[in-house]
Amino acid sequence: MSITTPFRHPPYCPNPGCDSHENTVVWRFVKKGFYLRDRRPYRVQRYRCCSCGRYFSSQTFSPSYWLRRGDLLESTFHRLVSCSCFRQIARETGVSHSTIRRLSDRLGRHCLLFHERMRPKACPEEPLVLDGLRSFEHSQYWPMDLNLLVGESYFVYGFNDAELRRSGTMRPAQKEKRRVLEKRFGKPDPRATEKQVEELLDRIVPEGGQVALRSDEHRAYPRAMSRLLDRSFVHEQTSSKESRTPASPLFPANHTDLLVRHSSANHKRETVAFSKRRLSALLRLAIWVVWRNYLKDRSENRGAGPPAQALGITGRPLRVKEILAQRLFPEREGITGWLRECYFGRIPTRAIERCVAHEASYAV
Ligand SMILES: [Zn+2]
Repeated sequence: MSITTPFRHPPYCPNPGCDSHENTVVWRFVKKGFYLRDRRPYRVQRYRCCSCGRYFSSQTFSPSYWLRRGDLLESTFHRLVSCSCFRQIARETGVSHSTIRRLSDRLGRHCLLFHERMRPKACPEEPLVLDGLRSFEHSQYWPMDLNLLVGESYFVYGFNDAELRRSGTMRPAQKEKRRVLEKRFGKPDPRATEKQVEELLDRIVPEGGQVALRSDEHRAYPRAMSRLLDRSFVHEQTSSKESRTPASPLFPANHTDLLVRHSSANHKRETVAFSKRRLSALLRLAIWVVWRNYLKDRSENRGAGPPAQALGITGRPLRVKEILAQRLFPEREGITGWLRECYFGRIPTRAIERCVAHEASYAV
């Protein structure tokens, strides 16, 4: 069944510990009454799984599961890729900014799984461009790179994060503040970029795959590639100082950077809407990636269709309603490694001592 249409009947048991969560060949469930709500859907059918006895409802299979304002998911999606910050969205919709933050996190987790389900699992045939989008979390003392792997079709295959040490010109007082902060919270791993680029390439390029990879002259990239012995990369480097025109081999990545900054309030220069946690930036980026790959046209004037259409993944641009048609469960999608850590919120921000992870029992 297509991922873009809502389920008419419960498709599997929502309990990840139940045999019928993944294997539905002999699954049985029974109707167990209903309850009424003051928002759509007004009548929610309840069910019970005959294998494990878990109660659930028709709402269990919607991304708005257990949300009081699930009706705001679709409009929040649009706002988050239209450069609004949480408080601006909250003022428009009359809810608190923490509600919008929770909706953003829910959308981000959903989009992480949605993209993982949809992206090609075979070795990409088009040349890929690797680049790091520089931003920061918490304060300018904690910079980070968002590593992006983009195809010539502008399809964003994947992304992850790398913590960086603040560098560049600093006043003596700023150097002293960096020293105090690093003494208290520790320094980021100097090889973070190398390790994270290795993780990203390992995830996107399957074993035995061969890809043409373009990048700037970042020294960590060749080191990351050399650690992946079972893949082969034809690496072409271009200086990042060269003009960023459409003729540049790095244009797909440069254009992606431009569009991320254009549409995400948290990555604008000199903004007060910067991400306070790297995790939040990553989940927002997941929403942006889904919008870019499956909704946003490659050309505003020519109507060429989104990148996923160019790759034959979808036949037409998707709508947000279709993206949010079905709830996706992490255990069924089988995410591992960095994706799993990101999904469950286990990417800590150094300067925040108690980072809350995503540890809900049911609303995963
Ligand atoms: Zn069950």
